[in-house]
Amino acid sequence: MNLVFLGPPGSGKGTQAIRVAEKLNIVHLSTGDMLREAVKNGTELGKKAEVFMKMGELVPDKLIIGMIEDKVTSGDLSKGFILDGFPRTIPQAESLKQMFGNNNIALDKAVLLAVSDEEIIKRIKGRAEQEGRADDTEGVARNRLDVYRKQTEPIVDFYRKESILTEVRGEDTMDNVFNAIIETLGK
Ligand code: AMP
Repeated sequence: MNLVFLGPPGSGKGTQAIRVAEKLNIVHLSTGDMLREAVKNGTELGKKAEVFMKMGELVPDKLIIGMIEDKVTSGDLSKGFILDGFPRTIPQAESLKQMFGNNNIALDKAVLLAVSDEEIIKRIKGRAEQEGRADDTEGVARNRLDVYRKQTEPIVDFYRKESILTEVRGEDTMDNVFNAIIETLGK
């Protein structure tokens, strides 16, 4: 099964993607994880990406698309996958469609974890208080939410038009959300 997971930062998307990939025995591919690894290793990509990541801004499409293209062409995705954190812009979604077309890969579903801004802000604040994080972190988190609504949310419509969008309510316990995702995938 070939899936894309969508949802605002703080929606629990990453955690659910890991659990669902494990359950379905498919690859979990997180561009955030790949970028953090690149930063840690001090690669050229990591150095370029770090500046944007620190501010909660998106890393330029060109860098990200190149990174994903390597995965698509290497055959790593042949047993099924969840893309977590990609695509995040319309140009990324369009490039992905083209890459998949060229490599005979079809997306089965785009799963959207829907969580309201109000709930996200509540979670960000709760986390900041719990962890005693700097205000700075809360500011970056809010910026990430803003970036999501402006730059990433348009791809929800992109996949709706492709008739592969499925929406799951993300304002529930981890287990209930997980079960709802599995159900919507017919698994
Ligand atoms: P994540 O762990 O998915 O929240 O990603 C952490 C950060 O990595 C984001 O705030 C972005 O700066 C960057 N990033 C991850 N995936 C992408 C992407 N598809 N396009 C642009 N930037 C990305």
